Amino acid sequence: MNFDLTPEQQAVRSMAREWALAEVAPVIHHFDETHEFPHEIVRSLGKTGLLGALVPEEYGGAGLDYVSYALAVEELNRVDASVGITMWAHNSLCTNHIVLFGSSAQKESYLPRLARGEALGAWGLTEPGSGSDAAAMKSRAVREGDRFVLNGSKAFITNAGVAEVAVVMALTDPARGNKGVSAFILDRGMPGFAVGRPYRKLGLHASNTAELVFDNVSVEAGRLLGELGMGFVNTMQVLEGGRIAMAAMAVGIAQAALDEALAYMKQRSAFGKTLAEFNGLQGMIADMGTDVEAARLLTLRAAALKDAGKPARTAASMAKVFASEVAMKAATKALQIHGGAGYITEFPIERIFRDAKLTEIGEGTSEIQRMVIARDILGLR
Ligand SMILES: Cc1cc2nc3c(=O)[nH]c(=O)nc-3n(C[C@H](O)[C@H](O)[C@H](O)COP(=O)(O)OP(=O)(O)OC[C@H]3O[C@@H](n4cnc5c(N)ncnc54)[C@H](O)[C@@H]3O)c2cc1C
Repeated sequence: MNFDLTPEQQAVRSMAREWALAEVAPVIHHFDETHEFPHEIVRSLGKTGLLGALVPEEYGGAGLDYVSYALAVEELNRVDASVGITMWAHNSLCTNHIVLFGSSAQKESYLPRLARGEALGAWGLTEPGSGSDAAAMKSRAVREGDRFVLNGSKAFITNAGVAEVAVVMALTDPARGNKGVSAFILDRGMPGFAVGRPYRKLGLHASNTAELVFDNVSVEAGRLLGELGMGFVNTMQVLEGGRIAMAAMAVGIAQAALDEALAYMKQRSAFGKTLAEFNGLQGMIADMGTDVEAARLLTLRAAALKDAGKPARTAASMAKVFASEVAMKAATKALQIHGGAGYITEFPIERIFRDAKLTEIGEGTSEIQRMVIARDILGLR
């Protein structure tokens, strides 16, 4: 067993950290307060190559391994999770679905633009009436000659209002249940394809989340992504990688909470001592440090399994459920360590605390991850 990162993996981590500290840290408070989408930051992120992290080099991407990708995701989220989730939905969901299941023509048409960040991607599975039970979707694509006519809607879609490209799932054969779901690639501006107003959210204020609405959208057969009827099955594979990335996102948020707690404890005094000298608070820090390290190890192990081409579904769900709960616990403890200062918006921990919660919900809730893990370890599949 080797815990050392390669020089290339270390270089990706350093680059992501330096970029996030230089480009995001100085301005993110403004975007969080105003709920504005940071277009300039995302354009700059495109120049680093990280919006093509999972895209093979032949299509203009960085072709990173999953360990490198997880390290980059962690470092971005350590600075800000709104930029982090924007990058995650673009890379792990939309772009990766095309990487894994796109035809050569689809890859050539979409991947170079997505990899350079000239087009941002969104991915729509969730609907107003179906989230955890995603196969209960209602969106319907009906074949008419060499086209499909798409009707329905998608809820809570990251990047919906800022994406040029969206991969969406719809029923093509409702009688076949989850074997009757297909995926399609849509472009912004297609007639009948609309975006709702951005939701006002608890956290991740600088990310865009909105509804996608399909009203008789005429979709050429060439926009079918993967085989007809395989959209749901393929989605499960997309989600496996996505869960590793969301675990890395949670590790970054948890590390940010720890960073903030450490800095505050060293500068704040009470009863003639710095907070760092109180045993009660030292215990909290010890638990946070241990939890963050355990979450990171689970996440990097799942990423390493994926890189080795080994089954990673259980490991990805374990990493995701553990890391997201560590993020929430670490953010809660770090806010407590800040006392009243933690409850006002001047200190980053208030934003980190709000942002952390999403990691227990998105990409499959903690309850759904536990269901996946239990079925796998009980051998119930
Ligand atoms: C900010 C944000 C960004 C998102 N981005 C995207 C995106 O880009 N693309 C996309 O497709 N979706 C996205 N989502 C949707 C997200 O994936 C869903 O919200 C999530 O999967 C949960 O679905 P739901 O909200 O419908 O909750 P529900 O499925 O209604 O669940 C409600 C509660 O019931 C529990 N529950 C449900 N079924 C079971 C069960 N069998 N056993 C035990 N408990 C259960 C859940 O764990 C939860 O606690 C996003 C959501 C948010 C908030």
